[in-house]
Amino acid sequence: MLWAGKLGALRKKVAALLACASLVCGGGLLLLAVLPGNSFYGETITSANLPQGKKLVALTFDDGPYPPYTQDLLKVLESRQVPATFFIVGNNASRYPEVVRLVGSKGHEIALHAGEHKDLLKLDRAELAGNIAFGKKVLEDLTGKPVKYMRPPHGFRDWLVMDEVSKAGLQVVNWSVIPRDWTNPGARVIAERVCKEAKPGAIVLLHDGDAPFQKASREQTVEATGIIIDELRKQGYEFVTVGELLSNQTAE
Ligand SMILES: [Zn+2]
Repeated sequence: MLWAGKLGALRKKVAALLACASLVCGGGLLLLAVLPGNSFYGETITSANLPQGKKLVALTFDDGPYPPYTQDLLKVLESRQVPATFFIVGNNASRYPEVVRLVGSKGHEIALHAGEHKDLLKLDRAELAGNIAFGKKVLEDLTGKPVKYMRPPHGFRDWLVMDEVSKAGLQVVNWSVIPRDWTNPGARVIAERVCKEAKPGAIVLLHDGDAPFQKASREQTVEATGIIIDELRKQGYEFVTVGELLSNQTAE
C-alpha cells in the first residue's frame, strides 16, 4: 500500500511537471508569434543590413487609407520629396479607392496589411487564404502593380500565417522602430522616439489609419512625420521605400 501511495504521488508530480512544461512551451511559441523581430516561424524582415556608411531609413504607415489623415500625410511627404511604404487594409482600400490610387501616383510603395484587420493567429487556413487573397487583389486591381510585402496586423504570425503569406507570393515585413504613435503621445514625443531609435537600415512603424474602427485622430503622426524627416536628414539620413531599402542590402 505504501508503494502504491508513493507511485500515485510520483504520477501526480510527473503530470504536474508535464503540465508546466507544456504551458512554458505553449507560452514560448505564442511569444514568438507575437514578438515582431524573430524569424522562428519563417523569414520576417525587420531592417536591412546596409553597406558601411549608407544611411537609409524606410518610413512605413499601417492601417490606412483613412481620410483626411492619409491625404494630409501625402502632402507632408510630397513637400519633402520623401517616398514611403503604405501597408494598406483591403476593406479600407475598397472604401477609399481614390486615396489608394493617389498614394500610388505619388511614387509610394503599396503593400498589404491584411484584407480585413484581424488577428491572423485566430483564423483557420481557408479564412487566412481568403483574407490575404482579397486584400492583395484589391490593391493590385487599384494600382495595376504586383504587391510584394505584407505586414500582418500587430505583426502576429505563426507557421500557418507564414505558409499562406508565402503561398500568396508575399514577404513578411515587420519593423525595427516602434514609437507607439497610435497612443497619440504628442507629435514631438513620437518624433523623438523615432530619432532616438533610428539606425541605418531601420524600418519605422507609423500609422496613417486606426484599424479596425478608424476612430482616433492621426494628426500627431502626420505632424511627427515632418519633424522626423527634418531631424533625420540633419543627421545625414535618406528616406527610401522598403523595396529600395532591401535592394541596398549587403550579402551577409
Ligand atoms: Zn494594423
